[in-house]
Amino acid sequence: MEIFEKLKQGEYENLILCHDRDSGLKAVIAIHDTSLGPALGGCRMWNYSTEEDAIIDVMRLAKAMTYKSAMAEIKHGGGKAVIIGDPNKDKSSSLFKAFGKFVNRLNGLYITAEDVGIRPEDIEQISQTTSFTVGKPVSKGGSGSPSWATAFGVFNGIKACLKFVYGSENLTGIPIAIQGVGSVGYDLARYLAENRADLYISDIDKEKAKKIAHLLKTKVCDPDEIFDIDCTVFSPCALGGIINDETIPRLKCKIIAGAANNQLLEERHGEVLHEKGILYAPDYVINAGGLINVSEKLVGYSRDRVTGKVKRISDRLSHLFKVSKAGGISTLSAANRIAEQRIQEARLRKN
Ligand code: NAD
Repeated sequence: MEIFEKLKQGEYENLILCHDRDSGLKAVIAIHDTSLGPALGGCRMWNYSTEEDAIIDVMRLAKAMTYKSAMAEIKHGGGKAVIIGDPNKDKSSSLFKAFGKFVNRLNGLYITAEDVGIRPEDIEQISQTTSFTVGKPVSKGGSGSPSWATAFGVFNGIKACLKFVYGSENLTGIPIAIQGVGSVGYDLARYLAENRADLYISDIDKEKAKKIAHLLKTKVCDPDEIFDIDCTVFSPCALGGIINDETIPRLKCKIIAGAANNQLLEERHGEVLHEKGILYAPDYVINAGGLINVSEKLVGYSRDRVTGKVKRISDRLSHLFKVSKAGGISTLSAANRIAEQRIQEARLRKN
């Protein structure tokens, strides 16, 4: 892997490898761009097959955070961290404290938060060695898990998609397939079930999927079958890279709108969806609710204000869809153009 070439291509500022002998910590922090402000982005804990997979993941996630902030008009840059390890087995207080020390060395250039595999309680541990964290448990004075805000943003985003395609945002009876019913997917399923959508859910944790399906009275399907469901909306809420050459031909949906980061395996898949007439809500636009939630904590928190700001995600998407239609370009290209222009303007202001 030619690391400096990758940094140059993606215009990254820093890539930091963190190792702590005593706790066994192996982590990577990627800072993509701080033109808009200090980098803000979650820390993921995952059992990556290879170190290269971890580095590729953290770099893609960090870059998406810069674009996400730019689109959500948040004065933060893009950064992300990954801790290599199994979140069900390898967590320890010393591991998180060691990670916090690395974050602290950056002196505020990167602020960490939760992501897949990390919970508010883990942020509390990290915050013992650095103040550059956000998202501690509510009982400890933090903003807690941002998942509700992410789910609420996706819920509003799905309505904006329906409005654009069908002229109505009524969810009653609309078939929607959700991949992954973890923190965000579950909250999203609740919002959609309350609005009488016709839900199909799947999760690799089949017991969890069954329980949630029973609770919310939805249908459940095998993780691999989710791509074949005859539905209006496919909502990826698990991991990234699931929209690719193998899955696109199987999709029967009209809309892709979900919370997962980096849903497209490659950028070109945004063009493939456009050619197929599938409306894609760019992930970093529709899933910005969590970022909005944590960024508000840094300036004084009000749940009402967060709710109002998260609702605006639907206006942003509607605008993007119009730009895409008018210019005959994919929704991803339309989003990238707007985000890159804002980042470029911030770079010019900073220099
Ligand atoms: P989570 O770990 O709580 O839930 C993920 C769920 O997906 C788990 O239940 C897991 O078993 C399931 N899963 C994994 N692979 C699967 C597969 N192939 N098929 C079906 N299910 C699968 O994570 P989360 O916090 O709910 O985040 C979900 C996604 O949304 C992630 O990509 C995350 O980066 C993104 N995201 C989350 C937030 C947030 O506020 N938590 C914000 C923005 C983006």
